[in-house]
Amino acid sequence: MNNKEIIDLDSKYIMQTYGRQPIAISHGKGAVIWDEDGNEYLDFFAGIAVNALGQSHPKVTETIQKQAGKLIHASNVYFTEEQVKLAKKLAEITIFNKVFFANSGAEANEGAIKLARKYTGRGEIIATNNSFHGRTLVTVTATGQEKYKKPFKPLPSGFKHVDFGDSEALANAIGDDTAAVILEAIQGEGGVIVPPKNYLKEVEAICRENNVLLILDEVQTGFGRCGEMFAYELFGIKPDIMTIAKALGSGYPIGGLLACDEVASAFDYGDHGSTFGGNPLGCAVAMTVIETMKDEKLVENSKTVGKYLKDKFIDLKEKYDFIKDVRGYGLFLAIELNMECNFVVDKMREKGFLINATGKNALRFAPPLIITKEQVDKMVIALDEVFSDF
Ligand SMILES: *Cc1c(COP(=O)(O)O)cnc(C)c1O
Repeated sequence: MNNKEIIDLDSKYIMQTYGRQPIAISHGKGAVIWDEDGNEYLDFFAGIAVNALGQSHPKVTETIQKQAGKLIHASNVYFTEEQVKLAKKLAEITIFNKVFFANSGAEANEGAIKLARKYTGRGEIIATNNSFHGRTLVTVTATGQEKYKKPFKPLPSGFKHVDFGDSEALANAIGDDTAAVILEAIQGEGGVIVPPKNYLKEVEAICRENNVLLILDEVQTGFGRCGEMFAYELFGIKPDIMTIAKALGSGYPIGGLLACDEVASAFDYGDHGSTFGGNPLGCAVAMTVIETMKDEKLVENSKTVGKYLKDKFIDLKEKYDFIKDVRGYGLFLAIELNMECNFVVDKMREKGFLINATGKNALRFAPPLIITKEQVDKMVIALDEVFSDF
């Protein structure tokens, strides 16, 4: 089928919940992607910061093929070697030592909220305006964007919102029934919003002082995206619970929540579960993803190529006064314009580059972590051409 045939079938048979780009992706190799009409693109979006190793990485392909021929699913009624090995690996590369495996970011956050409530015996969760934590009823309630939740009332109770970046407002919002604060280190869907310098450290201190748990949603920022393995390292904080998903499987759906032994022990037998969570195929893939990130030094690549790209963006900002801001860390970057910017996404796609617009007038760049300086150069030249046209 070609692009148009697929798009026509979509409108007929798929619930129309997505504002999609008008192409159907066929296949990819590394950071190069082809659509069903045979057009080629350089990928600076990675399927919403998911395909960390790019498309069809030989190590990932090999792992999937091998594991599919061995065991795809066993259920959590039984133990599997793949699951405990990944859990051990996650403990080695983080400050946590217990994990619960889920299938998505929203499920990971649901689990984190349940754990925080059970551990503290309190109910209230404080989240931030402009945040994004998922689309289930609880996580969309935690999400600080009215447009996502308005049609779905009544929403679960027990959530309060304060401005991201305002630690004083957060301190004032904490009450006797507050169980946890949930936030992203850098707001992703909100427009790659980087908080003021000491904000996260202040939030950490406020949580400690008040005996409130800090849940860090690293679903988008985790696994090298921001130039460190996790964003909590970048900001020098130690959250009590961390949620992960997106890049963990580099395209295979897997998520999880991590905590230290003490907090994790609040979950007793029967308290939480998932049929597919931590299935052996997902765990084997995630293990390969983490090992390959290390072998190919992709976190360092995110840092160095990310810096290279950000410097080029700063040059563009000097050149075009409609660029309001350039921000982000590693390969998690945004250019904010003083106007609506979806047309830039369209123009870039027509030139063969996949980027994304999010938040208020922000272009988001989240390429696979394997992206090279040469590929960055090509994209920046195209972007410069698009900008010089208006
Ligand atoms: C994408 C995202 C989620 C939701 O993940 P899903 O896998 O779509 O459920 C949650 N939090 C953050 C920060 C995200 O970027």
